[in-house]
Parts: sequence; structure tokens; C-alpha cells
Amino acid sequence: MTIMGDCIRDEHCVFCKILAGEIPAAKVYEDEETLAFLDIAPFNYGHTLVIPKRHCHGLSDMPGESRDRLFAAAALIAPVVLRVTGATGFNLLLNNGQAAGQEVPHAHLHIIPRFVDDKVLLNAPQKQYGDGEMAALQEKIQQRLAARQAAEN
Ligand code: AMP
Repeated sequence: MTIMGDCIRDEHCVFCKILAGEIPAAKVYEDEETLAFLDIAPFNYGHTLVIPKRHCHGLSDMPGESRDRLFAAAALIAPVVLRVTGATGFNLLLNNGQAAGQEVPHAHLHIIPRFVDDKVLLNAPQKQYGDGEMAALQEKIQQRLAARQAAEN
């Protein structure tokens, strides 16, 4: 890790290399906290990635301000991508961790423009909860969240 201006950088990270100008990218937006550029292998044309300038792996290690700016930038960019591509919808996707399909370990939001019947994302079969399973999970999540919020205050 090195400090690059205000940004913490990982030398082996492809997105940090884009941020440093060491490899090219089709940039579409930049502010103090975020950069957005076209995905090199798009699901649909106009597929855009929005990244925090600080290297972090995912949502849990992303500073709050970077996270807020990341989502604000995505909200700004997505309607413009729709307008330019003629798409009628979009998916906002964050693959968080290897199990979720994250390949580049620098947090990023995908803006994927969508067209009716474009067959871009596979629809996995959805599961059903057994007796009491949903309520048990609900309680555990609520309790953990409450404990976390209490610790933060
Ligand atoms: P993920 O699976 O969520 O980590 O997605 C990483 C995305 O980064 C993939 O969709 C890649 O196509 C994209 N990607 C990887 N390298 C580059 C690059 N040099 N320029 C633009 N997009 C890239």
C-alpha cells in the first residue's frame, strides 16, 4: 500500500493503476472521491463501473464518505447512461467478496444498462424458508444491527 495524494493505493490493483493513469480507461466521470469508466467487457454497451479513489475491498472497509459519494455518483451517472444507450432499465450491482463473484478486489459499483428481454443476467431459482427459519434469521439480524448501532453511538 502507498499513499497517492489523498488516496491509499494497492500497487497490484488494476483499478488503482487506472486511477494512477498507468493503464488506460474510458473515463466518463470523476470527483474528489470517485471515478467512473466503461467496463472493458460489458454485459451491455454502456456498462459502467464506479469506483472509490481510496483502495478498499468492499463495503465493510470503505470509509463512510467514500461510500456515500460512490452511491451518489452512481445515481447521477445511471440515468445518463440510460439516456445515451436507449436502455429502459439498469442493474446497480456490487459484487462483495469472492463468493459473490468479485474478481477485482477494489470495491466498485456496476451500472448495467438493461433492455427488455436482453437475457443479460441469469435468474437463479429462489429458495423458500422452512417453518420458523425466516423469523429466526429476522431476529438474529435485528439483534446484531441493534448492537452495532448501539456500539456506534
Ligand atoms: P467484478 O467481478 O465485480 O470484480 O467485476 C470486475 C469488472 O471489472 C469486470 O466486469 C471486468 O470486465 C472489469 N474490468 C477489469 N479490468 C478492467 C479494465 N482494465 N478496464 C475496465 N474494466 C475492467
